[in-house]
Amino acid sequence: MSMSVQRGWNFLQTPGPTNIPNRILNAMHRPAIEFLGPDFINFSDKIFASLKTVFKSQGQPFIYAANGHGAWEAAISNVLAPGDMVLVPETGRFALSWKYMAEMLHVKCEILPNNHREAIRPEDVAQRLERDTEHNIKAILLVHVDTSNGIAADIAGVRAAIHKAKHPALLMVDTIASLMTTDYRMDEWGVDVTVAAGQKGLMLPPGLSFCVANDKALAIADDNKAMPRSYWDWRDRLDKEVFYKAFCGTAPEHLLFGLEAAIDMLLEEGFENVFSRHARLARAVHAAVDKWAESGALEHCAVNPGERSNSVTTILLNKAYDPLELRDICRERFNIGLGNGMGQFMDHSFRIGHMGDLNEAMLFGVLGAIEAGLKLARIPYSAGGINAAIDSLTRD
Ligand SMILES: *Cc1c(COP(=O)(O)O)cnc(C)c1O
Repeated sequence: MSMSVQRGWNFLQTPGPTNIPNRILNAMHRPAIEFLGPDFINFSDKIFASLKTVFKSQGQPFIYAANGHGAWEAAISNVLAPGDMVLVPETGRFALSWKYMAEMLHVKCEILPNNHREAIRPEDVAQRLERDTEHNIKAILLVHVDTSNGIAADIAGVRAAIHKAKHPALLMVDTIASLMTTDYRMDEWGVDVTVAAGQKGLMLPPGLSFCVANDKALAIADDNKAMPRSYWDWRDRLDKEVFYKAFCGTAPEHLLFGLEAAIDMLLEEGFENVFSRHARLARAVHAAVDKWAESGALEHCAVNPGERSNSVTTILLNKAYDPLELRDICRERFNIGLGNGMGQFMDHSFRIGHMGDLNEAMLFGVLGAIEAGLKLARIPYSAGGINAAIDSLTRD
């Protein structure tokens, strides 16, 4: 592979992994320590406690040395048994991937169909649950921000729909792309199981993921003898007598050192400020895309502006143009990494990740590089995306 020499900073605008701040890298730059020694055990207790603040939950957190797919499997295998039925609102490609995993574990999945350019409707969930008079549906698997189309789902609305239908289904939510870009209130919204990962809003290197389970989910997991599992098993991980079981073996120490730094940084900024920064930067990206789109060659994937996420923006290109060429140009000429298209939009879209360690000036760089990339790739665009972003950022 030939690699050209790149100077300056690489802008990693993929929707995971994201730019890792030096403070997190530095926190990890240290020797390993005894993972069964008192220092590490105290540190680990502190990390588990601080996760409750992050998820706004008194539930029990679990930490896996795995990417997000690991936590997906953990959530399914603890709470569900082979033959159980779940409902999967079709938020986008990620809903289908989580469903695929559940099916591989012999869980029966029913998709609640939805086009991939609009948010799912809580009323549809209510209607489907109302028809399930025998309460066969054990859980709803819901993706908060679907990273394929950049659309955010209304979690509180889905919980209200479950209430309205007077249905006992558990609500299990994938916050992998939304955590720490968007407010998330696990307990207040009545979420039973949350799934998350470190390499997006938490700004960590890939390799760490999380589940948080409330008492109801923990009790179900305790009784769940039918689903084979070992590494993921919550019962084992809660064995207080044997500390090493908390991580099912050697703890991923350095990722946890990084996590401590990440949570410190987010608390110092203030969670509310973190969310409003993401919302502000996302609006600026949306404004730039609206401007470029006036040419007619590209458009927002998410048709309703109010449903666009704080985390990632998916842009559809007219089929005459090749998004891979645009990404190659952006990478090779401008040292910026963009997300590929996924699912239905695989061959004619690209994605801009705007989560984690990002500020206005970085965003101008990103949008400038993309605008230049559009020009070099000869994709018609209406010039002035950056000006639209400046207008947006100086208005709020
Ligand atoms: C990134 C992502 C995943 C997958 O996470 P991995 O760490 O790549 O396994 C799952 N769900 C959502 C919503 C994501 O954004």
